Amino acid sequence: MDISYILNHLGEEREEYFNAVAPPIMQSSNFAFKTVQALREAFVNEKNVALYTRGNNPTVSILRKKIAALAGADDALVFSSGAAAVAAAVMANVKAGDHVVCVAKPYSWTNKLLNSYLKRFDVSVTMIDGTSIQNFVDATTETTVLYFLESPNSFTFELQDIKAVAAFAKAQNIVTVIDNSYCTSIGQRCIEMGVDIEIHSATKYYGGHSDVVAGFLIANQAMIDKVFGTELLNIGGIISPHDAWLLIRSMRTLLLRLAQIQKTTEAVVAFMENHPQVEKVIYPFSKSFTQFELAQQQMTWCGGLFTAEIKAKDTEQIELFCNSLETFLMAVSWGGHESLIIPACSFYPKDDYRGSTFPFNTIRFYIGLENVDFLLQDLKQAFKKIE
Ligand SMILES: *Cc1c(COP(=O)(O)O)cnc(C)c1O
Repeated sequence: MDISYILNHLGEEREEYFNAVAPPIMQSSNFAFKTVQALREAFVNEKNVALYTRGNNPTVSILRKKIAALAGADDALVFSSGAAAVAAAVMANVKAGDHVVCVAKPYSWTNKLLNSYLKRFDVSVTMIDGTSIQNFVDATTETTVLYFLESPNSFTFELQDIKAVAAFAKAQNIVTVIDNSYCTSIGQRCIEMGVDIEIHSATKYYGGHSDVVAGFLIANQAMIDKVFGTELLNIGGIISPHDAWLLIRSMRTLLLRLAQIQKTTEAVVAFMENHPQVEKVIYPFSKSFTQFELAQQQMTWCGGLFTAEIKAKDTEQIELFCNSLETFLMAVSWGGHESLIIPACSFYPKDDYRGSTFPFNTIRFYIGLENVDFLLQDLKQAFKKIE
């Protein structure tokens, strides 16, 4: 299906609401029925009928159709955050005594869910280096029911061979979940590569304007029905109609934003790679990336995130560099209109790197929608301060 058609028209039944071009925000918690029979039918088809907004809402329903179509899947559910979508995907597929295999360095709250929260429910987890398929094979036991993938991750960008892992999992009856936030469904076709559940933090590129927190869970119909009936309705981490509307609105420009972000990121990455004050740049579409070929194979788009190690004597200099940037904002998250940095040294007490997985001079960059020359100027003046 044509992507621009999905973003601009799919799911929008305009004749149902006065032929308005923009869909209404259906700000109603419940929906009324004329007959007992109609209400009875709604109870058994809650996922597809407007009955109660915790289950289904007409504005959210438009969004669900678009994100399922974008990923090439049957259906999708929308949550109030990416973390809620991750938790729903995992909780729907494990029970006491089960074992999960997860790739190293996933998103921090995915890590906490798997390695601390799930322990209370007697679910064990093995973390592996996911860059080799053999590590999945070796970590799999008789009780393994789920593989959690994140490719690339959002700080150092390690990839998994998605097709190979999904095929091996399928043969063992293991459910695969992937956090595809980095690439979006446009940049990486996980469902088509055989993954069972695709998750997104919609807060990032789909929202794109740093004003909504939301999550997507995309899968085939049987899996969606399962998650809808338990994790969505029971835990109830739903999105509000207004936030769903903001996402529909933002996604009109998703393709344009992604194209612009990639173009600018490539220019900034090239500048950094050639800069004498930069030690190392990590970016999946960069020739120096250790899994460059796999990235080219399974990703059609590479995001606005990259990580660089800056040449510096000490943390003090890294802090001076970061504090000197004016256009780049210092903040968590990414995928919005604004360029960002987050230095690894903010995760630890000053000059105490003993617990760190990253060198002290690591900074993650996110490239937004500002003009490239404007961004380069900002970097140049900050580098001057630490010459
Ligand atoms: C931000 C993020 C999440 C969590 O999403 P929220 O919308 O913040 O709950 C999950 N995975 C990745 C890779 C993320 O960057």
